[in-house]
Amino acid sequence: MKLPIYLDYQATTPVDPRVLDAMLPYFRDQFGNAASRSHAFGWQAEEAVENAREEIAKLIGASAKEIVFTSGSTEAINLAIKGVAEMYGSKGKHIITCMAEHKAVLDVCKHLEKQGFEVTYLRPDRTGRTTAADVEAALRPDTILVSIMWANNEVGTINDVRGIGALCHARDVLFFTDGTQAVGKIPVDVEADHVDMTCISAHKIYGPKGAGALYVRRRNPRVRLVAQMDGGGHERGFRSGTLNVPGIVGLGKAAAICREELASEAKRAIGLRDRLEQRIRSELDHVHLNGNAEHRLPNCLNLSFSYVEGESLLMGIGDVAVSSGSACTSASLEPSHVLRSMDVGDDLAHSSIRFGIGRFTTEEQVDFAANQTIEAVRRLRQMSPLYEMVQEGIDLSTVKWQAEH
Ligand code: PLP
Repeated sequence: MKLPIYLDYQATTPVDPRVLDAMLPYFRDQFGNAASRSHAFGWQAEEAVENAREEIAKLIGASAKEIVFTSGSTEAINLAIKGVAEMYGSKGKHIITCMAEHKAVLDVCKHLEKQGFEVTYLRPDRTGRTTAADVEAALRPDTILVSIMWANNEVGTINDVRGIGALCHARDVLFFTDGTQAVGKIPVDVEADHVDMTCISAHKIYGPKGAGALYVRRRNPRVRLVAQMDGGGHERGFRSGTLNVPGIVGLGKAAAICREELASEAKRAIGLRDRLEQRIRSELDHVHLNGNAEHRLPNCLNLSFSYVEGESLLMGIGDVAVSSGSACTSASLEPSHVLRSMDVGDDLAHSSIRFGIGRFTTEEQVDFAANQTIEAVRRLRQMSPLYEMVQEGIDLSTVKWQAEH
């Protein structure tokens, strides 16, 4: 087995060889500009782009005209939220989102607050979930947009998108849902789910980095956006700039594969994810699931281990590439804002590990990761006086600690 093992599929995915094969001709002979109308090079590129647009639309139950190509989800999120705010700002200045959103959403909201918008940041429940009832309680006459993610990137919790979408449609409020982690992993249908806008990122679904798309509903209601990138009027004026043809072809192929293999892939991922969790739990006590046991992405397992120190744990499982809710992965000392919003205590947040399972993960790799985690946690707990006290039956919450002077 080749080390290190990659279990960080929520961060990014390798390009599927079938996707790479589909892209290569567009770096070589078929290098035309999709906007060139006067020769075959342009026509070929345009046809490839339109085929990709169809594939992406099919994956989410949209029509091709509703797909706007971008450089990824961050750009799509900026276009959706800022585009709505600028277009509908005269109607109202209130936006609803959630504390557990990706920074791309939160930072755009912060930007808009500086421009005079008011943002309600809903606190999710302890499993990271936001419901239609939560949104309903926050709706105001001047609410113009609800932005609640489809699935969370750190803990994998899936929100009640259909319920929130139906509520928004009933109240005439636009609904954007960050679909980066959901599209291609779970069934997504923008019609049945009442979604007005969602985003897709190629590098999360075995496509290339730097390509993505925004879905923008064209009827019931027709969503209008102020473009954030002005130029030659590409993408029907939503996003100017010469199209990244090889990237878009890769995104289209990645979407086609996801559509064909979604059900079998989800089943396989759940099998591996549950195997990993069961192995760990069969050998270790005081293991906490961060996320929602029922509404969770097939490929995400986020666990915290009591009585171990997060950074030592990450070092202890050095042959396994994972992400952590601990401060050591970021410049700040704060643990993950997602775990904090879920009220996971700082100690548990620091010892959280996100295992991301993917298309190329094997049973052997999962077993290796489980064993390395078990060994590392055991070793660290042997050094932990707190764990020793718990083993002796002492209830730590009743202990009166001596204050230092
Ligand atoms: N939203 C979520 C939920 C994500 O997981 C990510 C990726 O980390 C993004 C947005 C940003 O996507 P991109 O890398 O395509 O800009």
